[in-house]
Amino acid sequence: MSQLERTLAIIKPDSVARGIAGEILTTIEQAGFRIRGLRMLRLDRRQAEGFYAVHRGKLFFADLVEFMSEGPIVVLALEREDAIRKWREAMGATNPASAAEGTIRKRFGTSMQRNCVHGSDAPDTAHFELGYFFRESEMV
Ligand code: GDP
Repeated sequence: MSQLERTLAIIKPDSVARGIAGEILTTIEQAGFRIRGLRMLRLDRRQAEGFYAVHRGKLFFADLVEFMSEGPIVVLALEREDAIRKWREAMGATNPASAAEGTIRKRFGTSMQRNCVHGSDAPDTAHFELGYFFRESEMV
């Protein structure tokens, strides 16, 4: 069996505001992820900018920062084998319109921006993003 891996997931403000955070958590558990860390918080603009620093300079950066700080989010440390790839698969493509059937973004996403969930895209970003929200001792 391959090694357990961790990834950072976010239930974005659109999902929390619509009351579908619980449904997304159920989907996560049923898909075989173990939740090792979980917090609800609201990002301020600086925190949202820091989290999405790789996108600074892109046309959608200001809108993205505005969106991610508009209300509470749920941040999650997820664990399973091949967690990064499997969580990206469960989320679906960035644009909900072109996401595969059954994926979270296809089921719940309403636009390219308001696409319900985030997931790290590689081991180095997972390391950075998990550390952005969780101390090692907070992942149990
Ligand atoms: P992800 O890894 O699938 O989340 O996609 P990216 O890393 O490319 O983009 C980060 C987030 O920025 C996405 O999840 C969207 O919320 C938002 N985003 C990406 N591309 C666009 C875009 O073209 N327009 C807008 N308004 N938002 C975008």
